[in-house]
Amino acid sequence: MKIIRDTNLCYACKTCQLICSFHHTKTFWPDQSSIFLSRNPQNGVIKWCIDSTCDGCLNEVEPLCVKYCVYGAIKVVKETVENKENQTTYEYSSKY
Ligand code: SF4
Ligand code: SF4
Repeated sequence: MKIIRDTNLCYACKTCQLICSFHHTKTFWPDQSSIFLSRNPQNGVIKWCIDSTCDGCLNEVEPLCVKYCVYGAIKVVKETVENKENQTTYEYSSKY
C-alpha cells in the first residue's frame, strides 16, 4: 500500500498531519505525526511527505489521513511493477 497526495486538490489545511498524530498518540500532536506539511507563505509552495513511521493505520478501519481529507487529496494506491520497462507505476484503489 502506498499513500499519495494530489497536489492540485491539497489546500495545506494540515488535517492529515493532525489526524495522523492522533493515530499514533491519541492526542493532536503535529510533531508526532508521520506526515510533515508546510506551506511557503511567499510563493504558496506546499511541501508534504510521509516518513517511515507510517504503519498504514494499523488497527484502524481505514487510513485516517485518507478518511479525513475533506478535499479528497489523499488516495491509497497499489504499486504495480511493469516488467517490460522495469518501472514502478501506481494505480488508484478504492479498497484499503
Ligand atoms: S488533509 Fe488533505 S487538503 Fe489538508 S493538508 Fe492534508 S492532503 Fe492537503
Ligand atoms: S496511513 Fe495512518 S499512519 Fe500512515 S500517514 Fe496516514 S494517518 Fe498516518
